[in-house]
Amino acid sequence: VTTLLTSIRRVVEFTEQFQRGMTGIERFIEIMDEPLEIVDTPGAKKLKNVKGDIRFDHVGFMYSDDHTEVLSNIDLHVEPGKNIALIGPSGSGKSTLCNLIPRFYDVTSGRILIDGQDIKDLTLHSLRSEIGMVQQEVYLFAGSVFENIAYGLPGADKDAVETAAKQAGAHDFIMGLPEGYDTYVGERGVKLSGGQKQRISIARVFLKNPPILILDEATSALDNESERIVQQSLEKLTVGRTTFTIAHRLTTIRNADIILVLTEDGIVEQGTHRELMARGGIYHDLYQLYTEDSDLNEEF
Ligand code: ADP
Ligand code: MG
Repeated sequence: VTTLLTSIRRVVEFTEQFQRGMTGIERFIEIMDEPLEIVDTPGAKKLKNVKGDIRFDHVGFMYSDDHTEVLSNIDLHVEPGKNIALIGPSGSGKSTLCNLIPRFYDVTSGRILIDGQDIKDLTLHSLRSEIGMVQQEVYLFAGSVFENIAYGLPGADKDAVETAAKQAGAHDFIMGLPEGYDTYVGERGVKLSGGQKQRISIARVFLKNPPILILDEATSALDNESERIVQQSLEKLTVGRTTFTIAHRLTTIRNADIILVLTEDGIVEQGTHRELMARGGIYHDLYQLYTEDSDLNEEF
């Protein structure tokens, strides 16, 4: 469970007590847009025509209620459309590193640049509209399937929503629901499986069509069969987008353009599968140790 979701959930519980009158979608938007106290800097610019070049320049980060750096001196360059995979033990900062890109938290030192622009100088809205996220836990708000997918691109029409659902491999099961796209989901709605919810969240991102993607253990809560189906949708989604993948299987990681091994000591290895195998370090040893269906997260 990511810490972001934990904090979102806390905000949900809190706001629910005070804002019973709000509809699910209003509440959801409010939470997603302002989970933390990050605001636009005066004179912030809009991020436009994004290619998706991402650079971490000496990035350091500590959570405010803590005095130890979770990340220090992170240098990283991901070219447009490339796929970077992060592996490392639980608590090594993989989610934190990714969550700095949409500015759920601001870096404590250094800079993150998108297409050469410091993300601190960009409006939050324009920054976040260029980033799609798929996480382990999917939050569906109380509303129809249609509304839950359309959240990816407010104002989207029926055709666009259906196209996105087809791309995500969700259309067929949605048509099998009692009222199709009008079926009510969320707290008191129809109960969907983990894999179905995940495909709805992927449809959201297809609809949003962002040049930058963050996949944080998107399939790790699923059984093997739904994991396989969701993995196929995710592979389609990553095509042509700069993608940060936190994966729990070596097979997902193998084909990444850059593999980054993160530990408490920071980035300890960085390179392609081939390079890291030739290097004979941690990645090499892990790869030797675990078979195709090993679960890295448990075993690392
Ligand atoms: P990973 O995704 O690799 O498991 P995380 O980025 O979730 O690691 O966590 C990195 C470190 O930061 C851990 O020590 C974790 O306890 C801490 N941490 C994560 N979220 C918060 C938070 N919201 N406040 C304080 N510490 C946090
Ligand atoms: Mg994590």
